[in-house]
Amino acid sequence: MLEVEPSSQIEEPPSSQSVENLKKFVSAGQGHWADLPACQWQDWRWQLQNRITSLDQLQRLAPNLAPEEVVGALAARRKLAMSITPYFFNLIDFKDQRCPIRRQVIPRIEETQTAPGELKDPCDEDSHSPVPGLVHRYPDRVLMLVTDRCASYCRYCTRSRLVGRAASESFESRLDLQIDYIARTPAVRDVLLSGGDPLLLNDQKLESILERLRAIRHVEFLRIGTRVPIFLPQRVTQELCAILRRFHPLFISIHSNHPRELTLEARTALERLADAGIPLGNQSVLLRGVNDNVEVMKAHVQKLLMCRVRPYYLYQCDPVQGTAHLRTTVNTGLEIMRGLRGHTTGYAVPSYVIDAPGGGGKVPICEDSVAIWATDRIFIRNYEGQMFEYRQPPTE
Ligand SMILES: *Cc1c(COP(=O)(O)O)cnc(C)c1O
Ligand code: SF4
Repeated sequence: MLEVEPSSQIEEPPSSQSVENLKKFVSAGQGHWADLPACQWQDWRWQLQNRITSLDQLQRLAPNLAPEEVVGALAARRKLAMSITPYFFNLIDFKDQRCPIRRQVIPRIEETQTAPGELKDPCDEDSHSPVPGLVHRYPDRVLMLVTDRCASYCRYCTRSRLVGRAASESFESRLDLQIDYIARTPAVRDVLLSGGDPLLLNDQKLESILERLRAIRHVEFLRIGTRVPIFLPQRVTQELCAILRRFHPLFISIHSNHPRELTLEARTALERLADAGIPLGNQSVLLRGVNDNVEVMKAHVQKLLMCRVRPYYLYQCDPVQGTAHLRTTVNTGLEIMRGLRGHTTGYAVPSYVIDAPGGGGKVPICEDSVAIWATDRIFIRNYEGQMFEYRQPPTE
């Protein structure tokens, strides 16, 4: 195999784009596909069929790939597949080696290296599965993996062991087992559809799963985790929204990491979902060279609110094999949280969490805001570092 030194450029802060520019809603345009009829471009099936999946295609569209990326794309065939929708591909700035969109979807040689503490299944999901593809970790809710497909593959994916046909399991056959488990487990009142990306299922399939879940009396609350509004906004059709709105209360968590992902197309898709009465949250992953910076993150959370999306979680990147080049220290995360809390709308501030390696679930990471504890009073620190006293009521 080719020997390539991991680039040192990626240690530097992300390219200096003005915050004003980051907050603008810009269309991805048709870019490399300018000649394609608009009706085809807007067809989500065309977008899926024409994804960039091979080094050949990649080099034709982007002749100036870094050697680390060429090797990365070759190696990806044996690990997490490469796949990028033409729409999302157009957001990459190939003149910028450190483009934050590029780092999320173009494989790099560093993926082939395993750092200490990195695992295949860092959150130990497989051993918390009472039936295949159903994770029951918390008392009252389950995570249901309904497909192994995504519109594009994120290089840091927690489920890279499963998605993109990495595991040759049949998702069809296990659906009955999953639904049967939920039906005979009355403690489950919240079902979270995930994967892979549930919105890659066709309308009929998705509708049938939602119908079967809604037929279970103790299932109160449904949610879908999806990156489709970011990777493939064309999929969010009026027909899809008409189906989803029949299953309320239904929430959707999207996954966006950088303000440039929030294009005109993404905003249109998100508004459509919000207009169908679906409360929207966002889960971001803290990634080195993508969003590990207060200015970028602040622009991002504010832009999410403009799309009627409430930032929900900011995840410390899970220690998945081959992700060291994309992970940051926890200090960086705390610094970003310090830059958000109090400095912008409370609704815009997510909870910063680590999904505890080994299967402990999500653990909030926060700085101690209580400076001194006494029985009758506590001293608290505000976002500017000033101290305040709060008198506690008598305990007797
Ligand atoms: C994240 C997660 C959930 C949902 O957690 P919330 O904090 O309720 O959003 C449920 N099950 C598993 C296994 C999860 O990883
Ligand atoms: S969309 Fe989610 S499941 Fe799919 S590759 Fe990205 S992180 Fe993994």
